[in-house]
Amino acid sequence: MIVDRQGRRFRNLRVSLTAACNYACTYCVPDGKRLVAAQDELSAEAMVRGVGYLVEAAGIECLRITGGEPLVSPKLEAVLRGVSTLGLADISLTSNGQLLSRKLPLLLASGIRRLNVSLDTLDPVAFRAIARGGDLPTVLAGLDEAHAAGMRVKLNMVPLRGQNLDQVLPLLEYCLARGFELRFIELMRMGHLARDGNSFLRQFVAMPELLAMIGERYRFAQADAPVDATALRYEIPGQGFFGVIANESVPFCRTCSRLRLSSTGWLHGCLSSSNRHYVGDLLDKPRHQALPALQGLLVKALGDKQEVAFSGGVTVMKIIGG
Ligand code: SAM
Repeated sequence: MIVDRQGRRFRNLRVSLTAACNYACTYCVPDGKRLVAAQDELSAEAMVRGVGYLVEAAGIECLRITGGEPLVSPKLEAVLRGVSTLGLADISLTSNGQLLSRKLPLLLASGIRRLNVSLDTLDPVAFRAIARGGDLPTVLAGLDEAHAAGMRVKLNMVPLRGQNLDQVLPLLEYCLARGFELRFIELMRMGHLARDGNSFLRQFVAMPELLAMIGERYRFAQADAPVDATALRYEIPGQGFFGVIANESVPFCRTCSRLRLSSTGWLHGCLSSSNRHYVGDLLDKPRHQALPALQGLLVKALGDKQEVAFSGGVTVMKIIGG
């Protein structure tokens, strides 16, 4: 097992199926152009082999399939089928929910029982302004179907000053009514926001302000969360839970256990580092050749983690999988 001086190791792997996305969210891509799939995307077989090698070499226990938008990828079915045989403790998926209705039968048949759906507003006009793609009623219909099918759902919302703060309470109410857990994600200095500090600061909303808004309507108390959780969890007694991923206000780098594999075969040990390590060529090699080489790269990737706090990263979230 590869462990660093702070006792951190990789336990959670996020695999970006594709950089392609049917949205172009303002905080993710700067110019409104939707990202398309890279020409050199890994095949489904290579990805599954890669996950298997990382389970062995790094001790990965939990896998999250992400993107880009994973539900647009033609590899979805083959990857889900492949990773379901690897003995992982948990496999979940992050999506913008636009294709959820259509793909729900496949997700259920593949054993997926936990979904994170990104939804920044319940207002259709603000939705189009932020996502620059998609259609809100379609997402809501997909969420209803996932709920009815018994999926455990978390909603991700990025609070953005001047754009969706009026939606903090409506989204929380919407989630509490359905037993979904709402996760507020503090805006991160990623991609263009890492380069343009003013744009970041104009939009950024910190956890204390959020909690104060919620406190005007609900009483809540901090709840338990796993040691390496990125979110602080809160319970609204008798009604449910919500969480805040407070990258800036309460950094969680000291306990981070995340590793990311991009759709083109690069390992990222930290969102805040521009270092990445190419493993695409190893995934065609037999296990006895691939594993020793992978171990060396994993040591480097673990060394890329920040000591204490996220300080920004120029990589676009859609490329490495949020
Ligand atoms: N397409 C999928 C989705 O929408 O969930 C998966 C990829 S998306 C990059 C994953 C998550 O990253 C989303 O919840 C999105 O809101 C979040 N995200 C992207 N850029 C971000 C940023 N600069 N700060 C905070 N969250 C960000």
